[in-house]
Amino acid sequence: MNRVAPGKISKAKALCTVDRIARHRVRQIALSIWVAALAAWLALSPIPASASQAVNLSAAIPDVASIAAWDPSALPLPDASSRAEPEPKIPAKDYLPDLRTLPMTELRLQLLPGGWRFIRLANTIWNSGQGPLELIGELNADTEQTRVHQQIYTSTDSQRRILVGEFVWHPTHDHWHMGQFTLYELWALNPDLSLGSIVASSDKLSYCAMDTDPVDLGHPRFSLRRGYVGCGQYKQGLSVGWGDTYQSFLDGQSLDVTGLPDGYYALISAVNPDGLILEENYANNAARAYLELRGDRMTVVTLKHIKMTQCDESLCK
Ligand SMILES: [Zn+2]
Repeated sequence: MNRVAPGKISKAKALCTVDRIARHRVRQIALSIWVAALAAWLALSPIPASASQAVNLSAAIPDVASIAAWDPSALPLPDASSRAEPEPKIPAKDYLPDLRTLPMTELRLQLLPGGWRFIRLANTIWNSGQGPLELIGELNADTEQTRVHQQIYTSTDSQRRILVGEFVWHPTHDHWHMGQFTLYELWALNPDLSLGSIVASSDKLSYCAMDTDPVDLGHPRFSLRRGYVGCGQYKQGLSVGWGDTYQSFLDGQSLDVTGLPDGYYALISAVNPDGLILEENYANNAARAYLELRGDRMTVVTLKHIKMTQCDESLCK
């Protein structure tokens, strides 16, 4: 048996100890290499997103000088074409005429043989509306009638037409007229001087509508250029701000007052009496004059004059 002296390490045991030490060192070296490799991998790896954003946000924070110089108008405008909402559609607005009658002029009493008496008058109709009065004639060859449409202009540059009557041939004026265009009436007065009853009427008169007299040169839509210049069969009208005067000597500019008793009367002239023509306002179509008839004389008077001479205090206020 191979024995080892005390205090000495056997050869086999010494070799085992050396082997353990060598293996321990190898493990230490391997661990060091692994730690170094891990550190290198971490250094080369990309930064997580949250960390990257944090870095960028901190870099984007402006300093005080940048805030003071910030101009909101310099921001880019939103792209209009990207809006989903369509533009609201605005309905077309009609540019209508507004027919009115000026105070009558050339008022006189005409005396004829046989005791006939006629009130004669000059009459001016004019257009104060936003659009022209335009009348378009259309001949029907079968009936030989000329139907008339009113042409209405609109805010969208479109036009539309409505049927409003007929053009008729006037044998003594020798041109075409729009039928049922005006009306002259003479009214007796009630005791309180309100309108009583009709004592003379022209019935509805035809009229050629054309620009003969500039009336409202200050109208925003007035033009010095005359838009309607003839009494033809296919087109007549009144431009904005223009009027048409029929003088007192013309056929039809009269009312028969033969045999009418002396007294005070109201003479009324109205355009578009049946409201066939479309216009802005029908309440301003008439003009009124007060007359005093005494034998062969006629005088234009005021309502105040009639009140002073005729009116009972209890009736006139
Ligand atoms: Zn005429």
